[in-house]
Amino acid sequence: MTVGLTTKMLPAGPTTAAEAARCLLNGGLVAFPTETVYGLGADATQPEAIARLYQAKGRPSFNPLIAHVADLAAAERIARFNATARKLAEAFWPGPLTLVLPKTANCVVADLATAGLDTVAVRIPAHAVARDILRELGRPIVAPSANRSGHVSPTAAEHVASDLTGRIDLIVDGGPVPVGVESTIIGCFDTPLLLRPGGVPRDAIERVLGHAVGRPPEEPDAHSSQPLAPGMLASHYAPRTKVRLNAQRLADGEALLAFGPDPISGSDAAAASLNLSARGDLTEAAANLFSHLRALDAAHATAIAVMSIPHDGLGEAINDRLRRAAVPQD
Ligand code: AMP
Ligand code: MG
Repeated sequence: MTVGLTTKMLPAGPTTAAEAARCLLNGGLVAFPTETVYGLGADATQPEAIARLYQAKGRPSFNPLIAHVADLAAAERIARFNATARKLAEAFWPGPLTLVLPKTANCVVADLATAGLDTVAVRIPAHAVARDILRELGRPIVAPSANRSGHVSPTAAEHVASDLTGRIDLIVDGGPVPVGVESTIIGCFDTPLLLRPGGVPRDAIERVLGHAVGRPPEEPDAHSSQPLAPGMLASHYAPRTKVRLNAQRLADGEALLAFGPDPISGSDAAAASLNLSARGDLTEAAANLFSHLRALDAAHATAIAVMSIPHDGLGEAINDRLRRAAVPQD
């Protein structure tokens, strides 16, 4: 459980950066200043740490997170850059600009961090404290704003403390942050799109690219035949196989997504079977959710039958995502 942790607050500096990196490496949660807002960081390669991050924020859904990296080489290890992305990175990094790009084949960012998407949001922050921690860790850090879900984004360490004390391991105090608004997000598709306005103004981006940048359609649809790179606009991951929720018994030809120690009847004959958490642990279940869905989707079963999952704690976000996955695709 994240709740009930002892939360340390340390002034920014070289020894604190080393301690923050050690904490992240051990799966801990560390709040630190970026130039936009204070971020709540977790090692982007550790799904259980990311599950605890959602739990600490009390987020009722798994939306994809931004992977922060120390330099361009680190960004290119996780994301495939096109000409647009290169231009924008050169002009605005380090800085409050996030690029959404296809993941590389050996992208180390966990499925839970990208919410199962084939794309990854990446940025190099300009704040010295954030960059010191990133360099120390040598891995990408996912860092949404360091506040409880529904509260305002924190621009000072005291805001983080009042919201998250007892729920995270460490707060690195680097003073108030300079920008105070979130990063601008650009989807670097065939047609670049402004996915979220933020710290870098749209006209500055358009000047660098030499053309206007559009907004995405209201309801992006992964399966529509829009000219924009198909699949890349998907707002959430959904398996191609039909998903059946709250399964009490397994039908012929179905794959099973189990939860807990007690298999349902018919489990023995499953086309494929994976357990989100055999010990019934919701953090472990969240960590496994997207990778298990992907693996079962690849089994080409008639359906993926999902056992019911308790609705408390991270169960709410897990059930939210499963409900969306169960909406019929065309
Ligand atoms: P933040 O809450 O500041 O960490 O910002 C996260 C934002 O980035 C959310 O609005 C996400 O929807 C967006 N985002 C992150 N990853 C992706 C992605 N792969 N595709 C589209 N949007 C993304
Ligand atoms: Mg936020």
